[in-house]
Amino acid sequence: MRSIAIFGATGSIGGSALDVIARHPDRFRVSVLSAHRNVEALAALCARHRPELAIVADPEREGALASALEEYDLPTRVASGPFALEQAASDATCDTVIAAIVGAAGLCSTLAAARAGKRLLLANKESAVMAGPLLRSALAEGNGELIPVDSEHNALFQCLPPRCNDVDARGEVRRLWLTASGGPFRGRTRGQLAGVTPEQACAHPKWRMGRKISVDSATLMNKGLEVIEAHVLFGVAEPAIEVVVHPQSTVHSLVEYVDGSFLAQLGQPDMRTALAHALAWPERIEAGVALLDPRTLSLQFEPPDAATFRCLALARQALRAGGDAPALLNAANEEAVAAFLEGRLPFLGIEQVIESALNELPPQPVVDVGSLVERDLTARRVAARIIRDIR
Ligand code: NAD
Ligand code: MG
Repeated sequence: MRSIAIFGATGSIGGSALDVIARHPDRFRVSVLSAHRNVEALAALCARHRPELAIVADPEREGALASALEEYDLPTRVASGPFALEQAASDATCDTVIAAIVGAAGLCSTLAAARAGKRLLLANKESAVMAGPLLRSALAEGNGELIPVDSEHNALFQCLPPRCNDVDARGEVRRLWLTASGGPFRGRTRGQLAGVTPEQACAHPKWRMGRKISVDSATLMNKGLEVIEAHVLFGVAEPAIEVVVHPQSTVHSLVEYVDGSFLAQLGQPDMRTALAHALAWPERIEAGVALLDPRTLSLQFEPPDAATFRCLALARQALRAGGDAPALLNAANEEAVAAFLEGRLPFLGIEQVIESALNELPPQPVVDVGSLVERDLTARRVAARIIRDIR
C-alpha cells in the first residue's frame, strides 16, 4: 500500500492524480493534500479522500481550513506555510510525493522529497528547470526515485533503459525528440499574435490544464522549459534534445537510438496515463483513459516555428549559458505570464521581458537553495521593472 502526498491537490494535475488513486483503493492511500489558498476546495477533497494531513500554503488561511474540515467532521490534521510542505515531504506520513504545485513555489517541497528518498512523481517542471544540479544531488543523496509526470518526459522515461539519468554517458542514444502540440496559436504570424487575450491563450486545443502552463504552451515556453527538464532528468546535452510539432498530441515523445531505432510512447492526451504509470511503476494499472484505436490515427510532424515563437530559443540559450540562467529565465517567465494573465502585458511582451531580463543578469553558479531563491527574487524584480516600462 503506497501512502501518497499530493502537493497542489486542487489543481489540474492534482485532480487527475486523485481520479487515478480513487480507482485503486487496494494500492493507494491519500495521506497528505495541499492547496495554495482555496480551503473550501481543499476541505471538499479531504472529505472525499480522508488524508491524515491537510496543508494550506498561505498561513493566513489555516484557521479557515480548520473550520472547513470541522464542518465535515474530519479527523484530518491541519498545517500551513511552506515549511509544513517540506516537513510532510520528508517525514513518515507518506512514501510517495506528487509534486503538482505550479511554479517556483514547488521548489523546496520537491527538493525535500528527493532528499528524503521518497518516490517523487514530478509534474512541477519549474523546480527541475530552476535547480537542476540541486535536484540531481538531492536525488543522489536520498537514493529514492524520480518518475516524471510531464507527459513528454514520462514518455521518454518509458522508452529509455530503466533508471536512466545519465543517457549521454551510455553512448546509446543519438537524440531525444520532444513532441509539442504547437499550442492554440500554431500557424499564426507575429502580427496575429499581437492582440491575443488570456482567454484565447488558455484555450488549448488538446489539453485541459492550469492557466500558467496553458500560456506557456501558447508561447512555446512550455517546450523550452521541457528541453531544460529533459537535460536535467536524463543527462542529455542541449543539442541532442530536439523539438517536433505534432498537432494530434498522440505521440508523447521519442527516443532515437544510435542504431537507427526510434522508440515512442503513444496514448490519449490525458495526464491520467502518465500519472497511473508513475504511481504503479514498474507495474501497470487501469487509468480510466478513453480507448485509442490505432486504425483511426493519422499522425503529422513538422518543425516548430522558432522565428514566431521566440521563447523556445530563449530557453535553449539559458540552458547553454549554464549556471542559474534557467532559474532566471523561469522567474522572468513566471512574472511575465502573471502580468499577461492580469492584462498588464501583451502576449508578445512575454518573450521581450524574458530576453531583457536575461541580458541584464549574467548567470552565476548554482550553489545552494538559499542563493538560488535570492536570484529568483532578483530576476522577478528586474522583470517587474521591465513590465512597467513596456506599458
Ligand atoms: P494548476 O494551476 O491547475 O494547479 C496548481 C496547484 O498548485 C493548485 O493546487 C494550487 O493551489 C497550487 N499552488 C499554486 N500556487 C501555490 C503556492 N504559491 N504555494 C503552494 N501551492 C500553490 O496547475 P496544473 O496545470 O495542475 O500544473 C501543476 C504543475 O504541473 C505545473 O508545474 C505544470 O507545469 C505541470 N504540468 C501540468 C500539466 C497539466 O496537464 N495540467 C501537464 C504537465 C505538467
Ligand atoms: Mg509536457
